[in-house]
Amino acid sequence: MIQKTKIDEFIRPDLLSFGAYTAPVSAGSLTGNTEIPLTGVIKLDQNENVYGCSPKVITALAKYKGYHIYPDSEQTTLREQLSGYTGIAPECIVAANGSNQLLDIITRLFVGEGDNVINFVPTFDIYRFSTQICGGNIVEIPRDDKFAIDTGLFRRSIDAKTKLIFIANPNAPTGNLTPKKTILELLDTGIPIVVDEAYYEFSGVTALPLMKKYPNLMVVRTFSKWAGLAGLRVGYGLFNPVIADYLHRIRIPFNVNVAALVAVNESLQDIDYLLNRTKQIIAEKDRLFVELKKFKWLKPYPSRANFILCQVLNGKASEIHEILQNKGIMVRYFAKPRLENCIRISVGKPEHSDALIKVLREI
Ligand SMILES: *Cc1c(COP(=O)(O)O)cnc(C)c1O
Repeated sequence: MIQKTKIDEFIRPDLLSFGAYTAPVSAGSLTGNTEIPLTGVIKLDQNENVYGCSPKVITALAKYKGYHIYPDSEQTTLREQLSGYTGIAPECIVAANGSNQLLDIITRLFVGEGDNVINFVPTFDIYRFSTQICGGNIVEIPRDDKFAIDTGLFRRSIDAKTKLIFIANPNAPTGNLTPKKTILELLDTGIPIVVDEAYYEFSGVTALPLMKKYPNLMVVRTFSKWAGLAGLRVGYGLFNPVIADYLHRIRIPFNVNVAALVAVNESLQDIDYLLNRTKQIIAEKDRLFVELKKFKWLKPYPSRANFILCQVLNGKASEIHEILQNKGIMVRYFAKPRLENCIRISVGKPEHSDALIKVLREI
C-alpha cells in the first residue's frame, strides 16, 4: 500500500488552498481539438504582438556568442539603455524577467502578513496572486459600469494596514484609461502606488511626469506587447531612487537573461519600426471595434490597449469562446465576476479580424 504523503502538513497553511494564476490554454494543447491544423491557429488570447519582434532581434540572437556567461547582475548597460528610452536616470530603473516578476518583487517589498493591498476589479490577476503569496489581503474595490475607479469607495477602503495600490493603466482586461485627476487623488494619500503601463506604447499616456512630485509613484512597463518580446520575458520599472535601491537588494541576481539583454538592445535600435507596428495595431483595433459594434448581441468596450473586451448581450460568452476555439481562433474568457459574460479579443492583423468576424457572423 502506498503511504499517504504527509507533505501537506509542512506546506504553509495559507497556501494550501491558494488560487493559482490561470493562464489560457496553450496553442499546442489544442492539437486534434480544432477543425484546422495548428499552424493555422489564430492566437488572439494573450495580447501578444502578431507581427513578432524586430527582425534585428532574430539576427542578433543567432550571432551572439556569450550564452555561457552569466548576465551582468547590476543590469548596468540595460539600465542605461532604458534610461535613454524613458529619460529617467539609471539609478531609478529596475528590470526583471517580465514585468510580472517586477510586480512580484514590488509586492514583496511592501506587503507582509495581514497587510492590505488595494485592487480595482476587474483587473490583472497578478496583483492578487503576488499579494496573497506574501500573506497579504486583497481589498477589492469594484469599478463602475464603465470600469472607472470610484474614489469615494477608495477613500473608505484605506486604513493603516493599506500598504500598496495597484492600477493597470490602461486597465486589463477592460482597456480603459484612468483619468489623471483620479491618479492624483490616489497619489495624494501617500500610499505606494504601482501604475502598470504594460500598454503604454499603445495608449501614449503615462503617469511618469508625476514622479518628481510623488515619490510613492511607481511605473511598470514591459517589452512583451509593443516590442513583441513576450517569450523572452523582460519588463522594467521607474521608481524613486530609494525604492529602486530596495528593489535591487531583494531581487534575485541575474534576473534578466542574456538573450533578453540582446533583444532589448536591438529593439531599442529599431524603435521606429516597432512603433510603426503599434500604429498598425491601433488602426486595426479601431477598425475591429467598428466591426464588432455591428453585432447586436455584442458590446465592445472602447480600449486604449491592443485588445477589445466585449460583453455578450445575448447568449453565453463561454460558448462563443468555445465556438471560436473550435474554429482555431483563440480569444480569452474569464470565469470571474463582472467578466463571466465577456470575451477579450487581442488585436491581430486585418486578416485575423476578418477570420474572427466571419465566424461571429455564422453564430
Ligand atoms: C501583459 C501584461 C503585463 C506584461 O507582463 P510581462 O510579465 O511583462 O509579460 C503586465 N501587466 C498587464 C496589465 C498586462 O496586461
